[in-house]
Amino acid sequence: MRFSELGLRAAINDAVDALGYVEPTPIQEKAIPLILDGCDIIGSAQTGTGKTAAFSLPILSRLGPNGPGPRCLVLEPTRELAQQTYDNFLKFARYTQLRVGLIYGGVGYGPQREALARGVDVVVATPGRLLDHLGQGTLRLDRTKFVVLDEADRMLDMGFLPDVRRILLKCPKERQTLLFSATIPPALETLCAWALHDPVKVEIGARRAPAETVRHVLYPVALAQKQALLLALLEQIHWESVILFCRTKRSADEVVNVLKRAHHKAAVIHSDRSQKERQQALEGFKSGYYEVLVATDVAARGLDIADVSHVINYEVPEHPEDYVHRIGRTGRAQASGDAFTLMTAGDAPHVAGIERFISKKVDRVKLEGFDYQYTALFDEQRLGSLADRKTRGVRLGKGYFYGPARKR
Ligand code: ADP
Ligand code: MG
Repeated sequence: MRFSELGLRAAINDAVDALGYVEPTPIQEKAIPLILDGCDIIGSAQTGTGKTAAFSLPILSRLGPNGPGPRCLVLEPTRELAQQTYDNFLKFARYTQLRVGLIYGGVGYGPQREALARGVDVVVATPGRLLDHLGQGTLRLDRTKFVVLDEADRMLDMGFLPDVRRILLKCPKERQTLLFSATIPPALETLCAWALHDPVKVEIGARRAPAETVRHVLYPVALAQKQALLLALLEQIHWESVILFCRTKRSADEVVNVLKRAHHKAAVIHSDRSQKERQQALEGFKSGYYEVLVATDVAARGLDIADVSHVINYEVPEHPEDYVHRIGRTGRAQASGDAFTLMTAGDAPHVAGIERFISKKVDRVKLEGFDYQYTALFDEQRLGSLADRKTRGVRLGKGYFYGPARKR
């Protein structure tokens, strides 16, 4: 399937070409024709599967020439996501005359007011600041034909649903409403029933297999040696950029401090950091100033941070889907990547869950030259290989091999 077969208008297809997209992703292939047909949609697919283009391309295709507006409203839960979606709209609209506006909180009103006064066809906004503009009369939504509720699960988590309802009440009833989300929890079903009209559900199942281009391994280690092993890994392997995942905000803060003390350029994003701090961390990482970005799963959700050379799971994720999702941040676009997961004895059940989910055993490796303390995990491995020997009478190895330590 090619983009040109989906029915988008030429100016939009040209922009897609210019971006180097060759094939639509599964959610795009399914959702774009339906949106072009005027259907309301509930689209769910994992993060990173191209949901932004799935709604913005057909909307831009159908907006036609400039008009009094805005005629399309896109709501996003956070400032970073609003910025990211806005950037996408600009790229997709480059061969049209359509004007796109960006509205979010934490910055002055002046420039936003001026942009709105000049006129916009599409507004990408976070709910709070949008309500302020509606209250001040600097924006009206009575010509809105398309409403997108993007990253709706996150909007729910952040307590934005009442704001979203208030905003929707200001939009015409005659409109096309599209809701996109990585997951559709029950609380969202209620919103869908209220806000959408005969929606078509487009669901793309979670990918269970990590990309072939990612080499992923487990590093069993005693709890007390986790930090030391992390620093040794960073010392020994050849890496360019790393996303390091933690399960909690607290451990993310701890790890970033450990890294900084070891003179690594590291930044952290999680939900207790201010928008400004998160923005700064993200931009610094994308520009290459920070070499390591420490993140929690929630903070990283939806953010388009790809093409890192290494993903390190400092903590094993609780949900197997998060594992696939985390390690998918590397090895994109045919480039290969490495994903390392530090594992302590307490993580064994979660690792087993991951291995069941991806139907594959993940190799255990040791870092060469690291002075390992004993952990029960090493026994378990030896038992495993002994059992193999008994039943098959072949495998003799130690059960471990040394990790992919390419020296700098
Ligand atoms: P989601 O909203 O599902 O998390 P995004 O819309 O942020 O995902 O897209 C993730 C990344 O995939 C972006 O960098 C985007 O440019 C890229 N992308 C989207 N669609 C395609 C495509 N058809 N071909 C190649 N890359 C794509
Ligand atoms: Mg998205």
